[in-house]
Amino acid sequence: MPRKTYRICVLAGDGIGPEVTDCARRVLSSLEKAGGPAFTFDAQSAGYGAFERSGSALPAEMVAVAKTADAVLVGAMDVARIPASEPEPLSALRRALDVHASIRPVRAFTGAPAFRENIDVTIVREVTEGLYSGIEYAAGPDAACAVRLITRQASTRAAEIAFRQAMERRRKVTAVHKIGVLKLTDGLFLEAAREVAKRYPDVEFETRNVDACALELVRHPEIFDVILATNVFGDILSDVAAAVGCGLGLAPSSCVGDKWAYFEPVHGTAPDIAGKGIADPLATILSSAMMLRHLGEGAWAGAVDRAVEAVLRDGPRTGDLGGRATSAEVTTAVIAALEKQMTV
Ligand code: ATP
Repeated sequence: MPRKTYRICVLAGDGIGPEVTDCARRVLSSLEKAGGPAFTFDAQSAGYGAFERSGSALPAEMVAVAKTADAVLVGAMDVARIPASEPEPLSALRRALDVHASIRPVRAFTGAPAFRENIDVTIVREVTEGLYSGIEYAAGPDAACAVRLITRQASTRAAEIAFRQAMERRRKVTAVHKIGVLKLTDGLFLEAAREVAKRYPDVEFETRNVDACALELVRHPEIFDVILATNVFGDILSDVAAAVGCGLGLAPSSCVGDKWAYFEPVHGTAPDIAGKGIADPLATILSSAMMLRHLGEGAWAGAVDRAVEAVLRDGPRTGDLGGRATSAEVTTAVIAALEKQMTV
């Protein structure tokens, strides 16, 4: 069969974004030599750096390139420094690509210190609405409002993705809410999730208050399989889950819709370590494994996952995992572990 070539739009972004996406590109490029798919990369500008250079944090030509690519790899964007008058680039990217749910798996790895070794959870977070809908206004000189928009359509789409994930895993979905206070919005969200649950009789469905969910995620992560959450709750719970696991350096994610998808580490721009070449590249490399799976290259995704596992077992490791290696050294080790799999 002829080897496939995929075109990946890369939005390296700000802070450690360019460093970690470079590492993921090196790993993806190495697959061709091992007999796997080939990749071409179309680097595009987005984020605060793009805003400084061009006046737009998400230039229109970048969106056009992303839409024609096979997939999009994102580093991290410094959204905090972009003026409030500008559209928030990640939300704008999600709207442009019509991606509606972020999938964030967290598990423990042998050799990497984890707060709880028994965590193996995937958080499915609705990413288009909720408290991050971007509808904010001043209500007089001393008050301001943010609208928590919840729709049946977006809730149903996210729930659908959560149940599909659960079918591939341990077949349990926990929908999180704060219905005692948010009666209408979370009432609608849970109603949509319950409707979807009816179509998946083999999947256990439960609901939990978000605060109780956070507590149990820290104390007993093993009781969770897939957590379905609205935008802000999912944002916070996925950082909690990453901390309960091996930290942000090992937390990958994908953001999917019906047509397009993008892949990015859960972490942000990490300004405290940016430019030093010491960021853990594994979250982005694991995100590129999720991208491979999405492209139908499941065997190569598995090979990348196993190479990461081997490096975590045997080293080298970056500082966040107690090591002293650079991002480049860890990446070289992942590529070597991939090559080793091909020769045995
Ligand atoms: P942002 O505002 O872009 O979200 P942040 O610093 O608030 O940036 P993160 O970038 O997620 O949030 O970083 C949180 C902490 O985790 C920082 O101390 C950072 O150095 C650390 N961290 C994040 N990503 C990595 C990584 N890939 N490797 C090592 N440490 C990381």
